[in-house]
Amino acid sequence: MQEAPKCPNCKRPLTYLKRVCTESTEYELSVDGCYEKAETKKEDCSGFVCPYCGYLIADDETKAIEFLRQSK
Ligand SMILES: [Zn+2]
Repeated sequence: MQEAPKCPNCKRPLTYLKRVCTESTEYELSVDGCYEKAETKKEDCSGFVCPYCGYLIADDETKAIEFLRQSK
């Protein structure tokens, strides 16, 4: 069994990384008081962080997977 990679900051073994995405959706308010959902939808994602201390491990998915797959 391989050992899980450790967080460089808090030294805890990590089996997964955490990523937080915030979605923004725009709505259009028309003169008759109706809201209509506009097509514009923006997804703002942060990097991949340690689930325990929030330390940034990787900024993209490839690096995050590489980190999780490494064994010492
Ligand atoms: Zn950590």
